Amino acid sequence: MAFTSEREIISKELAAIREAGLFKEERYIHSPQGVNIAVEFPAGSNAREVVNLCANNYLGLSSHPEVIKAAHEGLDARGYGMSSVRFICGTQDIHRTLEEKLTRFLGTEDTILFPSCMDANAGVFEAFLTDQDAMIADKLVHASIIDGMRLCKAQQYVYKHSNMEHLEEKLQEAQEARFRVIVTDGVFSMDGDIAKLDEIVALGEKYNAMVLVDDSHATGYLGKTGRGTHELKDVFGKIDIITTTLGKAMGGASGGCVSGRKEIVAMMRQRARPYLFSNTMPPVIVAAAIKVLDLISGTTELRDKLEQNTKYFRSRMEEAGFDLKPGESPIIPVMLYNAKLAQDMSRDLYDEGIFAVGFFYPVVAKGQARIRTQISAAHEREHLDRAIEAFIKVGRKYEILGLSKKEIIAKYGL
Ligand SMILES: *Cc1c(COP(=O)(O)O)cnc(C)c1O
Repeated sequence: MAFTSEREIISKELAAIREAGLFKEERYIHSPQGVNIAVEFPAGSNAREVVNLCANNYLGLSSHPEVIKAAHEGLDARGYGMSSVRFICGTQDIHRTLEEKLTRFLGTEDTILFPSCMDANAGVFEAFLTDQDAMIADKLVHASIIDGMRLCKAQQYVYKHSNMEHLEEKLQEAQEARFRVIVTDGVFSMDGDIAKLDEIVALGEKYNAMVLVDDSHATGYLGKTGRGTHELKDVFGKIDIITTTLGKAMGGASGGCVSGRKEIVAMMRQRARPYLFSNTMPPVIVAAAIKVLDLISGTTELRDKLEQNTKYFRSRMEEAGFDLKPGESPIIPVMLYNAKLAQDMSRDLYDEGIFAVGFFYPVVAKGQARIRTQISAAHEREHLDRAIEAFIKVGRKYEILGLSKKEIIAKYGL
Protein backbone atom coordinates (compact mmCIF):
# COMPACT_ATOMS: atom_id res chain seq x y z
CA MET A 1 0.00 0.00 0.00
CA ALA A 2 1.25 3.45 -0.85
CA PHE A 3 2.36 5.76 1.92
CA THR A 4 3.14 3.04 4.46
CA SER A 5 6.91 2.91 4.63
CA GLU A 6 6.90 6.56 3.62
CA ARG A 7 4.71 7.48 6.60
CA GLU A 8 7.04 5.60 8.92
CA ILE A 9 10.16 7.31 7.62
CA ILE A 10 8.72 10.81 7.62
CA SER A 11 7.23 10.28 11.11
CA LYS A 12 10.67 9.32 12.37
CA GLU A 13 12.16 12.47 10.91
CA LEU A 14 9.45 14.55 12.58
CA ALA A 15 10.12 12.80 15.89
CA ALA A 16 13.81 13.57 15.54
CA ILE A 17 13.03 17.26 15.05
CA ARG A 18 10.88 17.14 18.19
CA GLU A 19 13.55 15.33 20.22
CA ALA A 20 16.16 17.86 19.23
CA GLY A 21 13.87 20.54 20.69
CA LEU A 22 13.58 22.21 17.29
CA PHE A 23 9.91 21.62 16.58
CA LYS A 24 8.10 24.83 15.70
CA GLU A 25 4.61 25.22 17.13
CA GLU A 26 2.28 27.90 15.86
CA ARG A 27 0.44 30.07 18.34
CA TYR A 28 -3.04 31.12 17.32
CA ILE A 29 -3.75 34.84 17.59
CA HIS A 30 -7.42 35.68 18.07
CA SER A 31 -7.13 39.41 17.38
CA PRO A 32 -5.80 41.78 14.74
CA GLN A 33 -2.01 42.10 14.65
CA GLY A 34 -0.91 44.85 17.01
CA VAL A 35 0.69 45.67 20.33
CA ASN A 36 -1.91 43.93 22.48
CA ILE A 37 -2.81 40.61 20.96
CA ALA A 38 -4.98 37.75 22.19
CA VAL A 39 -2.96 34.54 21.95
CA GLU A 40 -4.10 30.96 22.40
CA PHE A 41 -1.15 29.13 23.85
CA PRO A 42 -0.79 26.30 24.43
CA ALA A 43 -3.26 25.22 21.73
CA GLY A 44 -6.68 24.54 23.24
CA SER A 45 -6.32 27.02 26.09
CA ASN A 46 -8.30 30.25 26.31
CA ALA A 47 -6.75 33.12 24.40
CA ARG A 48 -5.21 35.75 26.66
CA GLU A 49 -3.93 39.23 26.06
CA VAL A 50 -0.19 39.78 25.86
CA VAL A 51 2.11 42.61 24.78
CA ASN A 52 3.62 41.72 21.43
CA LEU A 53 7.39 42.10 21.15
CA CYS A 54 7.99 39.88 18.15
CA ALA A 55 6.18 41.20 15.09
CA ASN A 56 7.85 43.02 12.19
CA ASN A 57 5.15 45.65 12.65
CA TYR A 58 7.81 48.37 13.05
CA LEU A 59 5.58 51.33 12.24
CA GLY A 60 2.40 49.94 13.78
CA LEU A 61 0.66 50.02 10.40
CA SER A 62 -0.56 46.39 10.33
CA SER A 63 -3.92 47.38 11.82
CA HIS A 64 -3.75 51.16 11.42
CA PRO A 65 -7.26 52.62 10.96
CA GLU A 66 -6.32 54.58 7.82
CA VAL A 67 -4.70 51.55 6.23
CA ILE A 68 -7.75 49.41 6.99
CA LYS A 69 -10.00 52.11 5.54
CA ALA A 70 -7.92 52.28 2.35
CA ALA A 71 -8.09 48.49 2.09
CA HIS A 72 -11.90 48.58 2.36
CA GLU A 73 -12.08 51.28 -0.30
CA GLY A 74 -9.73 49.35 -2.56
CA LEU A 75 -11.81 46.24 -2.15
CA ASP A 76 -14.99 48.12 -3.07
CA ALA A 77 -13.44 49.95 -6.00
CA ARG A 78 -11.37 47.19 -7.59
CA GLY A 79 -12.70 43.90 -6.30
CA TYR A 80 -11.14 41.00 -4.48
CA GLY A 81 -9.04 38.90 -6.83
CA MET A 82 -7.51 39.34 -10.26
CA SER A 83 -7.42 35.68 -11.25
CA SER A 84 -4.41 36.32 -13.45
CA VAL A 85 -0.71 36.95 -13.52
CA ARG A 86 0.36 40.51 -14.28
CA PHE A 87 1.14 40.15 -17.98
CA ILE A 88 -2.03 38.38 -19.07
CA CYS A 89 -4.88 40.34 -17.49
CA GLY A 90 -3.70 41.01 -13.94
CA THR A 91 -2.44 44.60 -14.03
CA GLN A 92 -4.66 47.39 -12.78
CA ASP A 93 -3.71 51.05 -12.91
CA ILE A 94 -3.19 50.94 -9.14
CA HIS A 95 -0.42 48.35 -9.53
CA ARG A 96 1.47 50.84 -11.65
CA THR A 97 0.66 53.67 -9.22
CA LEU A 98 2.14 51.65 -6.39
CA GLU A 99 5.26 50.86 -8.44
CA GLU A 100 5.75 54.55 -9.22
CA LYS A 101 5.30 55.55 -5.60
CA LEU A 102 7.81 52.93 -4.47
CA THR A 103 10.28 54.21 -7.08
CA ARG A 104 10.03 57.74 -5.68
CA PHE A 105 10.17 56.58 -2.09
CA LEU A 106 13.20 54.36 -2.60
CA GLY A 107 15.01 56.82 -4.86
CA THR A 108 15.45 54.45 -7.80
CA GLU A 109 14.63 54.47 -11.53
CA ASP A 110 11.80 51.95 -11.67
CA THR A 111 10.04 49.24 -9.63
CA ILE A 112 8.30 45.94 -10.29
CA LEU A 113 5.97 44.30 -7.77
CA PHE A 114 6.22 40.64 -6.83
CA PRO A 115 3.82 38.52 -4.77
CA SER A 116 6.41 38.62 -1.94
CA CYS A 117 10.05 39.54 -1.34
CA MET A 118 10.79 35.81 -1.22
CA ASP A 119 9.58 35.75 -4.84
CA ALA A 120 11.48 38.92 -5.74
CA ASN A 121 14.69 37.33 -4.45
CA ALA A 122 13.90 34.01 -6.11
CA GLY A 123 13.51 35.75 -9.46
CA VAL A 124 15.93 38.63 -9.49
CA PHE A 125 19.29 36.91 -10.05
CA GLU A 126 18.34 34.42 -12.71
CA ALA A 127 16.56 37.09 -14.74
CA PHE A 128 19.63 39.16 -15.57
CA LEU A 129 22.75 37.14 -14.69
CA THR A 130 24.39 34.30 -16.62
CA ASP A 131 27.26 31.92 -15.98
CA GLN A 132 29.64 34.66 -17.11
CA ASP A 133 28.66 36.79 -14.10
CA ALA A 134 29.50 36.77 -10.40
CA MET A 135 27.39 37.22 -7.25
CA ILE A 136 29.35 38.16 -4.14
CA ALA A 137 27.19 37.80 -1.07
CA ASP A 138 27.49 38.49 2.65
CA LYS A 139 27.64 35.23 4.61
CA LEU A 140 24.46 36.09 6.54
CA VAL A 141 22.07 37.09 3.76
CA HIS A 142 18.44 36.02 4.11
CA ALA A 143 17.38 32.49 3.14
CA SER A 144 15.36 33.81 0.18
CA ILE A 145 18.49 35.41 -1.31
CA ILE A 146 20.35 32.13 -0.90
CA ASP A 147 17.54 30.38 -2.76
CA GLY A 148 17.57 33.00 -5.51
CA MET A 149 21.31 32.57 -5.97
CA ARG A 150 20.88 28.79 -6.09
CA LEU A 151 18.49 29.18 -9.02
CA CYS A 152 21.01 31.27 -10.94
CA LYS A 153 24.00 30.00 -12.91
CA ALA A 154 26.27 32.93 -12.07
CA GLN A 155 29.40 32.16 -10.04
CA GLN A 156 28.94 32.49 -6.30
CA TYR A 157 31.33 34.11 -3.86
CA VAL A 158 30.69 34.54 -0.15
CA TYR A 159 32.39 37.11 2.06
CA LYS A 160 32.57 37.01 5.85
CA HIS A 161 29.77 38.90 7.51
CA SER A 162 30.23 42.67 7.03
CA ASN A 163 33.96 42.11 6.46
CA MET A 164 35.02 44.70 3.89
CA GLU A 165 38.58 43.37 3.47
CA HIS A 166 37.18 39.97 2.62
CA LEU A 167 34.64 41.49 0.23
CA GLU A 168 37.47 43.34 -1.49
CA GLU A 169 39.43 40.09 -1.92
CA LYS A 170 36.39 38.42 -3.48
CA LEU A 171 35.87 41.38 -5.80
CA GLN A 172 39.46 40.99 -6.96
CA GLU A 173 38.93 37.28 -7.54
CA ALA A 174 35.83 38.02 -9.60
CA GLN A 175 37.40 40.62 -11.91
CA GLU A 176 37.19 38.32 -14.93
CA ALA A 177 33.41 38.07 -14.77
CA ARG A 178 31.20 40.06 -17.15
CA PHE A 179 29.09 41.54 -14.31
CA ARG A 180 29.77 41.59 -10.57
CA VAL A 181 26.94 42.03 -8.09
CA ILE A 182 27.56 42.59 -4.39
CA VAL A 183 24.62 41.18 -2.43
CA THR A 184 23.68 42.10 1.13
CA ASP A 185 20.78 42.59 3.49
CA GLY A 186 20.33 46.18 4.69
CA VAL A 187 19.43 45.23 8.26
CA PHE A 188 20.29 41.67 9.26
CA SER A 189 17.27 40.13 10.89
CA MET A 190 18.84 37.98 13.61
CA ASP A 191 21.35 40.43 15.09
CA GLY A 192 19.67 43.65 13.98
CA ASP A 193 23.01 44.99 12.72
CA ILE A 194 23.20 47.25 9.68
CA ALA A 195 25.25 46.67 6.52
CA LYS A 196 28.17 49.06 5.87
CA LEU A 197 26.46 50.23 2.74
CA ASP A 198 28.62 53.33 2.29
CA GLU A 199 31.77 51.19 2.18
CA ILE A 200 30.06 48.58 0.02
CA VAL A 201 29.05 51.22 -2.55
CA ALA A 202 32.61 52.59 -2.55
CA LEU A 203 34.01 49.10 -3.20
CA GLY A 204 31.39 48.64 -5.92
CA GLU A 205 32.68 51.78 -7.62
CA LYS A 206 36.31 50.78 -7.22
CA TYR A 207 35.80 47.29 -8.67
CA ASN A 208 33.00 48.05 -11.12
CA ALA A 209 30.38 45.98 -9.30
CA MET A 210 26.64 46.52 -8.95
CA VAL A 211 25.12 46.56 -5.47
CA LEU A 212 21.95 44.66 -4.55
CA VAL A 213 20.43 45.31 -1.12
CA ASP A 214 17.55 43.38 0.40
CA ASP A 215 16.11 46.08 2.60
CA SER A 216 13.12 44.15 3.94
CA HIS A 217 13.92 44.95 7.57
CA ALA A 218 14.59 48.65 6.90
CA THR A 219 12.19 49.99 4.27
CA GLY A 220 9.77 52.45 5.85
CA TYR A 221 11.70 53.42 8.97
CA LEU A 222 15.51 53.45 8.67
CA GLY A 223 17.21 56.74 7.76
CA LYS A 224 15.93 60.18 8.64
CA THR A 225 12.85 59.93 6.41
CA GLY A 226 12.50 56.16 6.59
CA ARG A 227 13.68 55.33 3.07
CA GLY A 228 15.97 52.59 4.21
CA THR A 229 19.58 51.62 4.80
CA HIS A 230 20.80 53.63 1.82
CA GLU A 231 19.39 56.79 3.36
CA LEU A 232 20.95 56.06 6.74
CA LYS A 233 24.35 55.39 5.16
CA ASP A 234 24.21 58.40 2.83
CA VAL A 235 24.17 56.42 -0.41
CA PHE A 236 20.59 57.23 -1.40
CA GLY A 237 20.24 57.03 -5.20
CA LYS A 238 23.40 54.94 -5.52
CA ILE A 239 21.99 51.43 -5.10
CA ASP A 240 21.57 49.54 -8.37
CA ILE A 241 18.98 47.07 -7.09
CA ILE A 242 16.84 47.09 -3.95
CA THR A 243 14.58 44.19 -3.11
CA THR A 244 12.15 44.66 -0.28
CA THR A 245 8.89 43.54 1.26
CA LEU A 246 5.55 45.15 1.99
CA GLY A 247 5.10 42.44 4.61
CA LYS A 248 6.97 44.12 7.46
CA ALA A 249 6.96 47.86 8.26
CA MET A 250 4.88 48.73 5.19
CA GLY A 251 1.55 47.48 6.51
CA GLY A 252 2.59 43.88 6.89
CA ALA A 253 0.11 42.21 4.54
CA SER A 254 2.20 40.80 1.71
CA GLY A 255 3.96 41.72 -1.49
CA GLY A 256 7.47 42.64 -2.44
CA CYS A 257 9.39 44.37 -5.18
CA VAL A 258 12.57 44.79 -7.14
CA SER A 259 13.41 48.47 -7.48
CA GLY A 260 16.44 49.87 -9.26
CA ARG A 261 18.01 50.47 -12.67
CA LYS A 262 15.22 50.67 -15.22
CA GLU A 263 16.77 48.19 -17.65
CA ILE A 264 17.07 45.61 -14.88
CA VAL A 265 13.45 46.17 -13.86
CA ALA A 266 12.43 45.86 -17.52
CA MET A 267 14.28 42.56 -17.71
CA MET A 268 12.38 41.33 -14.62
CA ARG A 269 9.10 41.91 -16.44
CA GLN A 270 10.31 39.69 -19.27
CA ARG A 271 12.08 36.95 -17.39
CA ALA A 272 11.53 36.77 -13.62
CA ARG A 273 9.71 33.51 -13.10
CA PRO A 274 7.81 34.31 -9.88
CA TYR A 275 6.54 37.44 -11.65
CA LEU A 276 5.52 35.60 -14.80
CA PHE A 277 4.03 32.51 -13.20
CA SER A 278 2.44 33.62 -9.93
CA ASN A 279 -0.70 35.62 -9.34
CA THR A 280 -0.92 39.39 -9.16
CA MET A 281 -0.91 41.18 -5.81
CA PRO A 282 -4.59 41.59 -4.91
CA PRO A 283 -6.11 45.09 -5.35
CA VAL A 284 -7.04 45.34 -1.68
CA ILE A 285 -3.38 45.10 -0.64
CA VAL A 286 -2.23 47.39 -3.43
CA ALA A 287 -4.71 50.08 -2.34
CA ALA A 288 -3.62 49.78 1.29
CA ALA A 289 0.07 49.86 0.36
CA ILE A 290 -0.47 53.09 -1.58
CA LYS A 291 -1.98 54.56 1.58
CA VAL A 292 1.00 53.37 3.63
CA LEU A 293 3.39 55.17 1.27
CA ASP A 294 1.29 58.33 1.42
CA LEU A 295 1.23 58.19 5.22
CA ILE A 296 4.97 57.75 5.65
CA SER A 297 6.00 60.08 2.82
CA GLY A 298 4.11 62.97 4.39
CA THR A 299 5.54 62.82 7.89
CA THR A 300 8.31 61.10 9.83
CA GLU A 301 6.20 60.88 12.97
CA LEU A 302 6.01 57.09 13.07
CA ARG A 303 9.66 56.37 12.33
CA ASP A 304 10.66 59.05 14.86
CA LYS A 305 8.51 57.41 17.53
CA LEU A 306 10.00 54.04 16.65
CA GLU A 307 13.48 55.48 17.08
CA GLN A 308 12.61 56.95 20.47
CA ASN A 309 10.98 53.70 21.59
CA THR A 310 14.02 51.74 20.45
CA LYS A 311 16.43 53.98 22.35
CA TYR A 312 14.29 53.87 25.47
CA PHE A 313 13.91 50.08 25.51
CA ARG A 314 17.56 49.48 24.71
CA SER A 315 18.89 51.83 27.37
CA ARG A 316 16.59 50.56 30.11
CA MET A 317 17.34 46.92 29.29
CA GLU A 318 21.08 47.66 29.34
CA GLU A 319 20.72 49.48 32.64
CA ALA A 320 18.89 46.44 34.02
CA GLY A 321 21.96 44.34 33.20
CA PHE A 322 20.91 42.37 30.14
CA ASP A 323 23.49 41.39 27.54
CA LEU A 324 22.15 42.97 24.33
CA LYS A 325 23.57 42.78 20.83
CA PRO A 326 24.79 46.30 20.16
CA GLY A 327 23.13 48.26 17.38
CA GLU A 328 20.60 50.91 16.51
CA SER A 329 17.81 49.01 14.75
CA PRO A 330 14.52 48.09 16.49
CA ILE A 331 15.64 44.45 16.44
CA ILE A 332 17.10 44.05 19.93
CA PRO A 333 18.37 40.56 20.74
CA VAL A 334 18.68 39.68 24.42
CA MET A 335 21.59 37.25 24.41
CA LEU A 336 21.30 34.06 26.49
CA TYR A 337 23.57 31.67 24.52
CA ASN A 338 21.92 28.55 25.97
CA ALA A 339 18.90 27.26 23.98
CA LYS A 340 17.00 25.92 26.98
CA LEU A 341 17.49 29.13 28.91
CA ALA A 342 16.06 31.07 25.94
CA GLN A 343 13.03 28.79 25.82
CA ASP A 344 12.46 28.84 29.57
CA MET A 345 12.71 32.59 29.80
CA SER A 346 10.41 33.08 26.82
CA ARG A 347 7.79 30.88 28.51
CA ASP A 348 8.11 32.77 31.80
CA LEU A 349 7.79 36.09 30.00
CA TYR A 350 4.65 34.78 28.38
CA ASP A 351 3.26 33.98 31.82
CA GLU A 352 3.99 37.61 32.70
CA GLY A 353 1.98 38.77 29.68
CA ILE A 354 4.90 39.44 27.33
CA PHE A 355 5.19 37.72 23.96
CA ALA A 356 8.86 37.43 22.97
CA VAL A 357 10.12 34.30 21.28
CA GLY A 358 13.38 32.44 21.89
CA PHE A 359 15.63 31.76 18.90
CA PHE A 360 18.21 29.02 18.85
CA TYR A 361 20.00 26.70 16.46
CA PRO A 362 19.37 26.28 13.52
CA VAL A 363 17.73 29.72 13.26
CA VAL A 364 20.89 31.23 14.76
CA ALA A 365 24.35 29.66 15.16
CA LYS A 366 24.93 27.10 17.93
CA GLY A 367 25.68 28.77 21.25
CA GLN A 368 24.01 32.02 20.12
CA ALA A 369 20.54 31.45 21.58
CA ARG A 370 18.60 34.58 22.38
CA ILE A 371 15.24 36.20 22.82
CA ARG A 372 14.79 38.55 19.90
CA THR A 373 12.68 41.57 20.76
CA GLN A 374 11.30 43.90 18.12
CA ILE A 375 10.09 47.38 18.93
CA SER A 376 7.19 49.11 17.21
CA ALA A 377 5.99 52.69 16.85
CA ALA A 378 2.68 51.34 18.17
CA HIS A 379 4.23 50.62 21.57
CA GLU A 380 3.42 53.21 24.19
CA ARG A 381 5.69 53.84 27.17
CA GLU A 382 3.42 51.73 29.36
CA HIS A 383 3.85 48.69 27.07
CA LEU A 384 7.60 49.05 27.05
CA ASP A 385 7.68 49.53 30.82
CA ARG A 386 5.59 46.42 31.34
CA ALA A 387 7.92 44.46 29.09
CA ILE A 388 11.03 45.76 30.84
CA GLU A 389 9.61 44.95 34.27
CA ALA A 390 8.73 41.44 33.16
CA PHE A 391 12.21 40.95 31.72
CA ILE A 392 13.75 42.12 34.99
CA LYS A 393 11.56 39.78 37.05
CA VAL A 394 12.43 36.80 34.86
CA GLY A 395 16.08 37.84 34.62
CA ARG A 396 16.27 37.84 38.43
CA LYS A 397 14.69 34.40 38.61
CA TYR A 398 17.46 33.00 36.37
CA GLU A 399 20.09 35.20 38.02
CA ILE A 400 21.54 36.54 34.82
CA LEU A 401 21.23 40.30 35.39
CA GLY A 402 24.60 42.01 35.19
CA LEU A 403 26.32 38.87 33.93
CA SER A 404 28.71 39.01 31.00
CA LYS A 405 28.55 36.56 28.11
CA LYS A 406 31.27 34.47 29.76
CA GLU A 407 29.42 34.37 33.06
CA ILE A 408 26.11 33.38 31.48
CA ILE A 409 27.83 30.57 29.59
CA ALA A 410 29.69 29.47 32.75
CA LYS A 411 26.35 29.31 34.59
CA TYR A 412 24.17 27.66 31.93
CA GLY A 413 26.56 26.15 29.39
CA LEU A 414 26.04 26.30 25.65
C1 LIG B 1 11.12 38.89 5.55
C2 LIG B 1 12.21 38.90 4.57
C3 LIG B 1 12.02 38.44 3.27
C4 LIG B 1 10.73 37.80 2.83
O1 LIG B 1 9.74 38.75 2.61
P1 LIG B 1 8.28 38.23 2.21
O2 LIG B 1 7.70 39.40 1.49
O3 LIG B 1 7.59 37.88 3.47
O4 LIG B 1 8.45 37.05 1.32
C5 LIG B 1 13.06 38.55 2.38
N1 LIG B 1 14.24 39.06 2.75
C6 LIG B 1 14.47 39.51 4.00
C7 LIG B 1 15.80 40.08 4.36
C8 LIG B 1 13.46 39.43 4.94
O5 LIG B 1 13.70 39.84 6.19
